[in-house]
Amino acid sequence: MGRKLLADPHLPRKLKEGRPQDVLPCIYCYTCISAIYIQEHARCAVNPETCFESLRPAPPAAATRKRVVVVGGGPGGMEAARRLDRAGHEVVLLERGDQLGGTLRFAALAYAANERLLDWLARQVEASHVEVRLGTVATPELLRSLSADAVVVATGARRSMPPIPGSDLPHVFSGDDLRRLVLGESSEALEKKTGWTTRLATKIGAATGMTANLDFVRRATHQWMPLGKRIAIVGGELVGLELAEFLSERGRTVGVVDDVPRLGAGLTIVRRMRLIEELEEHGVTLRAGASDIRIEAECVRFTDAAGQGAAILADHVIVAKGASGDLALAEQLRAASFAVHVVGDCRGVSYIEGAMRSAAEVAAAI
Ligand code: SF4
Repeated sequence: MGRKLLADPHLPRKLKEGRPQDVLPCIYCYTCISAIYIQEHARCAVNPETCFESLRPAPPAAATRKRVVVVGGGPGGMEAARRLDRAGHEVVLLERGDQLGGTLRFAALAYAANERLLDWLARQVEASHVEVRLGTVATPELLRSLSADAVVVATGARRSMPPIPGSDLPHVFSGDDLRRLVLGESSEALEKKTGWTTRLATKIGAATGMTANLDFVRRATHQWMPLGKRIAIVGGELVGLELAEFLSERGRTVGVVDDVPRLGAGLTIVRRMRLIEELEEHGVTLRAGASDIRIEAECVRFTDAAGQGAAILADHVIVAKGASGDLALAEQLRAASFAVHVVGDCRGVSYIEGAMRSAAEVAAAI
């Protein structure tokens, strides 16, 4: 119960009131516990007020009710919308895709504990007064027609393929490609790289709503995935390592290679210790400090940390690198004279903790 109470100190009261669905869930990310190891102030990734109660008191109800448009239905956008609604503002949440969740959906697939937060945020938004518009692209014209007093941009990171020799080969997927593939989404680049059976299965999954059900996808991918037996992942930060775990649990022989000296950036120290140990137990090859990484038809070649030539054999290669902040929309909207606030990964990749904290800061500032 320790961590559950850090995530939501109001848990006992909510249960007593018969509202278990409102309990903000712990996602077992170990941010709180890791703080002890590095002598930082204790904190909770999903609840920015925990341990900062006097520094971040609950904001009073808004003195002026504003019309706020939140752009992006990922965790940062949903949390900002929920908080702004609670503060008394009139909120419209725009999401380009056909469902809420953003990258948290794939994060929930790779690490099931994240799904609790996804479900909680979706439930809270649904139970609020927030007007959700799916399949809607934010443009200055639309925001003007919505009479937005303030705009919160929460559109996430930019993901570009890093300049790795061979990254344009047909058996190479970006992290985004893989997310789309598994979650039943489509893109032109993906259509070129997949066979008709995969495209058909993806379309059936999307049309029937099966791929929207993460538990179904989690179970189904144990039986079938359009990926070969041997997978090389280029990129050993949080996303690459959680992907390695997801794939190795599905019977793939996985190797991870990166040029950084230490794998696991973005993971808290305790989660990193556990995950690296689990990956090694699953037989995942982990190679940090590599140089001269290049992708070939059947392998990823590199020079290892000891200066020796090495290779990871691969039927498919996933490049899980290249995410960075993306302020393009925010700047476009500022140039069009909107009062713009920015939340989550578009400020720079900061994962769930950054999304939840920046959403709280922005909601308090509006
Ligand atoms: S920091 Fe993570 S593990 Fe700790 S209580 Fe919060 S959600 Fe749970």
